[in-house]
Amino acid sequence: SAQIIDGKAVSQQCLNAVADAVAARRAASLRVPGLAVVLVGDDPASAVYVRNKNHACRQVGFESFSYELPADTSEAQLLDLIDELNDNPAVDGILVQLPLPAQINSQNILERIRPDKDVDGFHPYNVGRLAVRKPLLRPCTPKGIMTLLTAYGIDPKGQKVVIVGASNIVGRPLALEMMLAGATVTVCHRFTRNLAAEVAAADIVVAAVGKPKLICGDWIREGAVVVDVGINRLADGSLCGDVDFDAAKQRAAMITPVPGGVGPMTIAGLLENTLQAAQNRD
Ligand code: NAD
Repeated sequence: SAQIIDGKAVSQQCLNAVADAVAARRAASLRVPGLAVVLVGDDPASAVYVRNKNHACRQVGFESFSYELPADTSEAQLLDLIDELNDNPAVDGILVQLPLPAQINSQNILERIRPDKDVDGFHPYNVGRLAVRKPLLRPCTPKGIMTLLTAYGIDPKGQKVVIVGASNIVGRPLALEMMLAGATVTVCHRFTRNLAAEVAAADIVVAAVGKPKLICGDWIREGAVVVDVGINRLADGSLCGDVDFDAAKQRAAMITPVPGGVGPMTIAGLLENTLQAAQNRD
């Protein structure tokens, strides 16, 4: 049975390191990093994520600026807020929680954020930096996954990595991270013909789709590493990933649980990015 990868524990180590760095900045009379988190509308999952992010900010000693805007906020109003935060010297990082309501074009919003304050790493400038192997601020979930693998002594170099899901926020930037780390990368998506066969070839498989138990246990190669990014709320209120955990655990060498795997690492990535953004602006 697989070793369970403890994302919560590794995330806590990252948070402790960030907290130490913030304390050192204080002691050196440097500015405390500031993170602005913007939530538009009342999506319940987004509200939970934003609450967790604000909580983590306080835990490491950041200044946190929280904005909760009504669901009928216009794109122009949100752009005005971004401009204000771009110009606010106390704000090192700006995070706009996705998804945004339908009347707002999220790409326009993401591209308005100053790249040096883009702690989610979604601005095309930061994605491009990663694509040309000169990363600055890196997307948080892929960054968190790479940190988690390193913490468990898993080196993707030379390994066959199969990523299921090709979104801008997880699958695509993770493919860039994995290539940067020396992996041979396959990216699967809704048009992939034989998903089972692709997954079966993987030394490391990452699922980021948003479909409960899409990845069957018997697809997993014996001894593979399984990283489950999916967060799916089931009818009974419980959370489950994109992988059939109980079955996959019988074949994998290591596997991340949901919750307690990748989720906490995303927050660690965000806080590390915000610290980095503050350091870059000193
Ligand atoms: P998305 O909907 O933007 O993208 C889904 C991807 O899956 C697409 O590339 C699509 O082509 C692919 N796909 C859909 N059906 C498929 C199928 N049958 N076979 C193969 N590929 C298929 O999703 P996203 O924003 O990347 O999020 C994916 C999941 O990860 C969601 O459950 C989300 O909640 C979760 N998530 C978790 C974290 C975290 O911190 N743990 C962060 C971001 C997203």
